[in-house]
Amino acid sequence: MALIVQKYGGTSVGNPERILNVARRAIAAQEAGNQLVVVVSAMSGVTDNLIKLAKDVSPNPSEREMDVLLATGEQTTIALTAMAINGLGKKAVSLTGAQAGIITSDLHTKAKIAHITPERVTEALAEGNIVIIAGFQGETAEGTITTLGRGGSDLTAIAIAAAIKADLCQIFTDVDGVYTCDPRVVPSAKKISEISYDEMLEMASSGSKVMQSRSVEFAKKFGVVFEVRSSFNNNPGTIVKEETDSMEAVVVRGVSIEKNQAKVTITHVPDRPGTAAKIFNAVANAGLIIDMIVQNVSVQGSTDISFTMSKDELPKAQARLAPVVKEVGASEMLAQDGIAKLSIVGIGMRSHSGVAAKLFDALSSGGINIQMISTSEIKTAVIIDETHIAEGANLVHEAFGLGVASH
Ligand code: ADP
Ligand code: ASP
Ligand code: MG
Repeated sequence: MALIVQKYGGTSVGNPERILNVARRAIAAQEAGNQLVVVVSAMSGVTDNLIKLAKDVSPNPSEREMDVLLATGEQTTIALTAMAINGLGKKAVSLTGAQAGIITSDLHTKAKIAHITPERVTEALAEGNIVIIAGFQGETAEGTITTLGRGGSDLTAIAIAAAIKADLCQIFTDVDGVYTCDPRVVPSAKKISEISYDEMLEMASSGSKVMQSRSVEFAKKFGVVFEVRSSFNNNPGTIVKEETDSMEAVVVRGVSIEKNQAKVTITHVPDRPGTAAKIFNAVANAGLIIDMIVQNVSVQGSTDISFTMSKDELPKAQARLAPVVKEVGASEMLAQDGIAKLSIVGIGMRSHSGVAAKLFDALSSGGINIQMISTSEIKTAVIIDETHIAEGANLVHEAFGLGVASH
């Protein structure tokens, strides 16, 4: 008998028929002789609608109340899923994140899991129930409701799997697994059969939202092997696990794209120690998350500094930086949105040369201009005009032979 954690995302529980599909799948897995924990997301669109509702009543809703509101999305789904299973004649019990023992920090809307005390889960399993847990939520040690950041049901599933020492953790979604690029953008993208934690983490954090990046980080830390697969068929999915020697043979595992980026450039920044620190401290103190940073070579004692962030953060960044630009004696601050990031990821990049050149060639063949470049050990990323992102992704995908190679 195996202990299995299954997670079903928003589309997979998007309407009553799909919830019944989840119920039937969970029952089938139980009837095959396993114990089942099912983590569910809010029905598709529900979380977005709740966010919109909050903005309709207040321009700047408190994050504590946002969490109280957002947690209702998953609470609806656990009840409906348990009812569906009961209706099919099987035992099921629903638990909120708090009832499942998920204790988090008090960083509302992006709380971190501190620890899990899953006694209630294991007891309900022992009584023969399929246990349905609300994804994306927990509570602080003081008992206040928290949520784990967008896409956080992935994290709930992986953390619960670690806490109850599950034999199997399956992330069911609306695609057959992790692809070499988002199949909605690159039609020739191929399903990857195995990917390392590090590659999955880099892809997730550079825009491949098939997995929440924090959940992958957690899986790596606690060695939770998991599979990403479709809730609409029985095709094998993608196994995410520690890297193996054979994985190094693939230079580029996948292409990620991230739209809705913005760039700030501060011109003629005096080239003195402490200036960059002043600028980026102001950014950090505002809680802004920035991505690529580029500083030009200094000419005649001054330099330009550019950095990127999510477009939503741009107004806040501009407001925070306006006084700092004056204070450090820079000329001006230029802001630009309508840009996107394209990244290639692969652990084989550590030991192969010419990867960046091939990326730049592919983009130049489409006449696509590169505005910024950044590299890390297993990733090369560029900023390009957002209108060219789909074309760029297809060209790069093709140049690295990802549409034809078998992985
Ligand atoms: P869920 O609601 O099940 O959590 P998500 O919408 O969060 O599902 O993630 C699945 C979506 O991720 C897919 O529909 C797909 O468009 C997108 N996606 C982006 N990059 C990739 C990729 N490399 N492989 C597979 N899907 C991807
Ligand atoms: N419902 C949450 C969201 O839309 C969490 C999740 O789906 O994983 O972000
Ligand atoms: Mg998701």
